[in-house]
Amino acid sequence: MTFDFQPLTFFGELMEILNYINGEWVKPKVKEYFDVINPATGKMIAKTPLGTRVDVDAAAKAASEAFPAWRRTPVNDRVQYLFKLRNIMRENADEIARIITNECGKTLEEAKAEMIRAYENVEVACGMPMMMKGDVVEDIASGIDEMMIRQPVGVCATIAPFNFPGMIPFWYLPYAIAAGNTYIIKPSEKVPMTMQFIMKLIEQVGFPKGVVNLVNGAKDVVDGILEHPNIRAITFVGSTNIAKYIYATAASHGKRVQAQGGAKNPVIILPDADMEMATKIVADSAFGCAGQRCLAVSFAVTVGDAKNQFTELICDAASSRVVGYGLDSGVQMGPVINMASKSRVEQLIALGQSEGATVPVDGRGTLIKGYESGHFIKPTILADVPRGSEIAKTEIFGPVLSLMHVNTVDDAIELVNSGQYGNQASLFTSSGNAARKFRYEAEAGNIGINIGVAAPMAFFPFSGWKDSFFGDMHGQGMDAVEFFTQKKIVVERWPKEWTRKF
Ligand code: NAD
Repeated sequence: MTFDFQPLTFFGELMEILNYINGEWVKPKVKEYFDVINPATGKMIAKTPLGTRVDVDAAAKAASEAFPAWRRTPVNDRVQYLFKLRNIMRENADEIARIITNECGKTLEEAKAEMIRAYENVEVACGMPMMMKGDVVEDIASGIDEMMIRQPVGVCATIAPFNFPGMIPFWYLPYAIAAGNTYIIKPSEKVPMTMQFIMKLIEQVGFPKGVVNLVNGAKDVVDGILEHPNIRAITFVGSTNIAKYIYATAASHGKRVQAQGGAKNPVIILPDADMEMATKIVADSAFGCAGQRCLAVSFAVTVGDAKNQFTELICDAASSRVVGYGLDSGVQMGPVINMASKSRVEQLIALGQSEGATVPVDGRGTLIKGYESGHFIKPTILADVPRGSEIAKTEIFGPVLSLMHVNTVDDAIELVNSGQYGNQASLFTSSGNAARKFRYEAEAGNIGINIGVAAPMAFFPFSGWKDSFFGDMHGQGMDAVEFFTQKKIVVERWPKEWTRKF
């Protein structure tokens, strides 16, 4: 076996994946490892130790022991660590981006953009002294005051997916620790290297031992987190079936939980849209990150006369996209995460065909010169996808855009709202009235008007409705402050008779 990736020398040739618990790098005692494969080259670049409850227990113990002192650390002192973290992440953003490209497959530009989103969340969390303020009402009865104060929840944990290994942990981590909680992150076993490197940076920042911990693994570690009595709050991002499992199991163990699930994001193209602009933006959304974005547009609904022009333009955009290794210059789209995913996506394209769709642009069977073992699928268009078909309902999570057609805006909105998911819905139009109607009626947590990826900035919650989200408070912004703090109500009376004379 040859290894092609040595971004860091500190763990030897093959990047060794360790846990970070109580301020120490720990080699977990495990029987099984998960092979981390560079999706572009097909070569192994690391092995993820598939940890157990023993590792979760060690991390939860360290985080519990660190909690009392950390919550007593003044909030303005806590955020000083975050200012340092933001700077060190920025300084190392290019290196982190290279790691993301190598283990996750997206292009270097996409990986750099991901890291900007990550440290923007650190920047917002630096406002925690302002954001976690409580409320007071004096004289709720004569001489009695009532106040609401926010206190940290305790030990919190995040279970992350593979597709944004650098960004998604930062929807939570900075808010959790700035609010005075201690924290455990479990990255996806498919992409452990990014958080391994970021934890090196976190170590350099000098947080007190046990405030931030990293545990690697898969289901056993997740189950250990869900059931651990010391862990009070859990955030999850991943596929819908696992999100439901996380939500139900964590709740049954009395934990606060939010779980982001899968998606099948529609875009409506009205005849009055700027077709050139709409096509470029929709193509970037559908094929960016090889379609492995939870906010990727995955089916386009053309209305009335929009059909012919949009179909022609989007087919051109799909077939001209440059596919290859994300570190090579000029490459616009990388591979999907692994061979299983490539096969799955190709089988779904075949399913669409068998259900009556046509395939005017077919990315199956792609071989990229020099990277013949890579997991590449070129952009694919499935046209005339029948309503109600399996392919119209299933999350593909690959570079495939389905096309459907209806006659009116009402029909289009009805089609959008008939779906199982509600992560994002977009509309392209030059009509303010149509835009308002869509914004008002579309059943999705993130809405784009002439926008293809309506990713909320760090100071807004990353929303999601229906089967794309289980919980009430989301990640990022004030929702994260709500989630990572518990409210305490104090009602106070200080009788006048007790007044001392000085
Ligand atoms: P996944 O559900 O397979 O894995 C996510 C996490 O769950 C990983 O850490 C994994 O180790 C763990 N896990 C997997 N199977 C498990 C099981 N049986 N029991 C316990 N834990 C388990 O998701 P993925 O393939 O890594 O990510 C892609 C999915 O994530 C897509 O469905 C995508 O739409 C979704 N996603 C959603 C959002 C959002 O904001 N809604 C963002 C990113 C990704």
